[in-house]
Amino acid sequence: MKELNHIHQLFLESTGICTDTRKLEKRNIYIALKGENFNGNNFALKALKNGASHVIVDDDITPTPEESRIIKVKNTLSTLQNLAAYHRKYLNIPIISITGSNGKTTTKELINVVLTEKYKTVCTQGNLNNHIGVPLTLLAMNKQTELGVVEMGANHQGEIKKLCEIAQPDYGYITNFGKAHLEGFGGFEGVIKGKSELYQYLIKHQKTIFINADDEIQVEKSKGCEIVSFSEGKHASQQITFLKADPFVKISTEDNEINSQLIGTYNAKNIAAAICIGKHFHVSSEAIKNAIEEYTPNNNRSQIITKNTNNIILDAYNANPTSMKAALENLEKLEAEQKMVILGDMFEVGDTSAQEHQEVINELEKLNFKNMYVCGKAFYHCNTKKTRKFEDFNALKTQLETENFENTTILIKGSRGMALERIVGIL
Ligand code: ATP
Ligand code: MG
Repeated sequence: MKELNHIHQLFLESTGICTDTRKLEKRNIYIALKGENFNGNNFALKALKNGASHVIVDDDITPTPEESRIIKVKNTLSTLQNLAAYHRKYLNIPIISITGSNGKTTTKELINVVLTEKYKTVCTQGNLNNHIGVPLTLLAMNKQTELGVVEMGANHQGEIKKLCEIAQPDYGYITNFGKAHLEGFGGFEGVIKGKSELYQYLIKHQKTIFINADDEIQVEKSKGCEIVSFSEGKHASQQITFLKADPFVKISTEDNEINSQLIGTYNAKNIAAAICIGKHFHVSSEAIKNAIEEYTPNNNRSQIITKNTNNIILDAYNANPTSMKAALENLEKLEAEQKMVILGDMFEVGDTSAQEHQEVINELEKLNFKNMYVCGKAFYHCNTKKTRKFEDFNALKTQLETENFENTTILIKGSRGMALERIVGIL
């Protein structure tokens, strides 16, 4: 503890934490982490040379005249996490945690843009939502920060619990319980258990949970806690009505109509959560409306791209059985002359992978879009009647290059590893 107090003092005097010497800024504290490919300890002296105020290491570093700036600890990762937890207590501000199977980053960003209308916030950068990203997010907050918004990701049991112990959230929202990371969680029941660790923490510490009152699992699992809710029609703190997605999601609140720049019916819930949280923190209705209407997504997350006469819905950032079905249902509801679907394999599905891929095919063939293509080893082994299968990206590419599409709305979705955004250049 004494050591932690000392490191925290050095941290307050520094310009921040850095774990990658390529991004080091003057007077940063460099923490040497061991990754799969690199041992950060090997870069510690370089960090000192490049202007780090101190380096924290867990290997023996050859003594140098700089020795007083080298802090040797037992485990640098634990030190980073403990320092973040210590700093979080020092900050003494409300922290909102977001987890769930799908839509965490989008929801986190929506919540953040809404809250920045009234507060100085710090939120997770991009997708830095794991055992390293969460501590770094907390350490990016300072005494000027009024509210923190922290995304928490997990692919196995116990992970969210640990992240909660670091971030000590006062509020939490779980976007959904879906079929994502089934492998690591041990099936869908495992996902519910693993994600609910956020609720368990908040219940135990008598904090507050935001819920979508239309989601039965959220209602059930959050029992025993202070609840702030939103719903379409059920008794809730906020009434929010989904109006349409053609392609952009439009919803109405008790006092406003909001035209977002997000596509996909599933985004209605993400927006609703941001509105509910904004209202809870007394952001005005006008400010909430402006913040959401101005927000545009990036990183291939449900982007809409117009190319020649075609509209491409590019959703190549990730995919799992739940988000695949949500994307297909969304396409079905869109008004379009012709519709086409190109799906890539879903990764990390585990034992049920063959079955889950087959279910997506069954769903797809029921919807019967004009052109239906799937790509990747898992889809290739499915039974299909109307869907064209391609074993890998190159086979799909060769086919697409021979074709010409016009006036077509094209959904492209697959796991990150499939990198289906490459298709946009071909179409
Ligand atoms: P990651 O696990 O990579 O951090 P994430 O949970 O942060 O993902 P986002 O990056 O916000 O999720 O969105 C990824 C994709 O998930 C979207 O492009 C969309 O296809 C789908 N999605 C978003 N929100 C929902 C939702 N509420 N329900 C189902 N699917 C959703
Ligand atoms: Mg994310």
